[in-house]
Amino acid sequence: MNIFIDNTSGQLNDYYFQTLCLLYFPGEKFPPNGDDSGKKAEFTVRQEQDGSYSARVILTDGGRTAKGEFCTRGFVPQVDAKTEFYAQLALGRAYLEAGQKLFGFTPPWGFLTGLRPVKRARFYLTRGYDEETVRQMFIRDYCVSEQKAALSVETASLETKMLEGYKYGTVGLYVSIPFCPTRCEYCSFISYATKRLNSMIPDYLVRLHSEIVLTSQFIKEMGFTVGAVYIGGGTPTVLDDNQLSGLLHTITTNFDLSHCREFTCESGRPDTITPSKIKIMRSYGVDRISVNPQTIHADVLARMGRLHSPEMFYAAAEEALTAGFKCVNSDLIAGLPGDSFDGFCESLHKVKEMGFGNITVHTLSVKNAASIRFDESNVYDPEGTRARRCVEYANRYLKDGGMRPYYLYRQKNTVGNAENTGYAYPGLENLYNVLMMEEVSTVFACGAGSITKLVNEPMNDILRIAFPKYPYEYLETEQGTWQADARAFFGANK
Ligand code: SF4
Repeated sequence: MNIFIDNTSGQLNDYYFQTLCLLYFPGEKFPPNGDDSGKKAEFTVRQEQDGSYSARVILTDGGRTAKGEFCTRGFVPQVDAKTEFYAQLALGRAYLEAGQKLFGFTPPWGFLTGLRPVKRARFYLTRGYDEETVRQMFIRDYCVSEQKAALSVETASLETKMLEGYKYGTVGLYVSIPFCPTRCEYCSFISYATKRLNSMIPDYLVRLHSEIVLTSQFIKEMGFTVGAVYIGGGTPTVLDDNQLSGLLHTITTNFDLSHCREFTCESGRPDTITPSKIKIMRSYGVDRISVNPQTIHADVLARMGRLHSPEMFYAAAEEALTAGFKCVNSDLIAGLPGDSFDGFCESLHKVKEMGFGNITVHTLSVKNAASIRFDESNVYDPEGTRARRCVEYANRYLKDGGMRPYYLYRQKNTVGNAENTGYAYPGLENLYNVLMMEEVSTVFACGAGSITKLVNEPMNDILRIAFPKYPYEYLETEQGTWQADARAFFGANK
């Protein structure tokens, strides 16, 4: 689409304007010389003589145009706000006014563009603001809907409780297996999913083994304690029995897991879960796995390129649910092409009735790396009504059934601007998810496509160290180079 920015406010960068655009124009690109899509956003933001900010936004789509304007003069925010907020407020309010006129709806998250609304809520809650004030901050300051504001505050409160007693120096460990049996149409991860690429697994595991050993040595050297382990991907259970037990052996023999609160192996695809792999995971102390249908409808699964049938999911779920894991998680996606509101509700009811202790409700997000496109597959309706209804229904249904939202994040280009939320019965939340999302603890990562996130709490500092994205690059790069940066980052002040 075409974007024109006249920004003399001294605040906000071009990326912010583009991100805002995606709230009403998901999936759009912003080529430097424009395009002939007929979609246009014209932004003007200024700081006035009295210090207030004013903005004018003109949006055009399909030959129709709408304008919005806002000035922050006299506006008193609910919480302490930086100068940047006032520029965002002027721009955001003007943008929503224009969008409401043009498209007839206001996005549920207002003009809040960040991916971690709960982190924002927690920030204020832990600084003494009460829940009602923080709720009103979302509603009044960012035009977030009442339902999303309440969800953010509720989730933030539970996260805060979960993190009580989680001491500095306790770290997470993430191990990446970026291989899958086939590629899902909506996937935007770097995960190898062909027979030829998956032939790289044995070499990858050799390399991963030495990375895990190096990481364990570093954790010992720093005097850290491992509090949560998460093997993710990809699909870790794409490994065969020997490979899986070899990996688990490496992890359990190199780390002291006596203080580990949870050990997760994200199994995911039902077509990779077998009774013998479940037995292996249990024997090494894995206490959480996931079995993800995304939907229980065969036609929707086939359209998404998933290799499994609903029956395969039921069989894998039954194995997992009766194997003695502390928690079995299940993921669903709202807004899948070919699915309906009723279809989503059937999937939700089914996984709840089957006895999963932890259910994550995602919203379809269409990214560049995915095979499907908003325009090509007609999956996107501008209002995203169906996906939004699905996640709102899931919120009510799961909470009525005794589950609580414990982590939440947003992504760009989600259908209906909706969010991803993890729900669990009390005590079955996944701590690792919260650590990652809230960036409150160091997480050491091993493997291609993973990111080590170092958190130096005393210094209030975060350092991210990314491993090469593709397994073939990972195999070619020198190992352990991150250690020098990590040592320098922590210094003597670990
Ligand atoms: S299982 Fe997950 S990582 Fe693998 S292809 Fe599907 S969405 Fe991507």
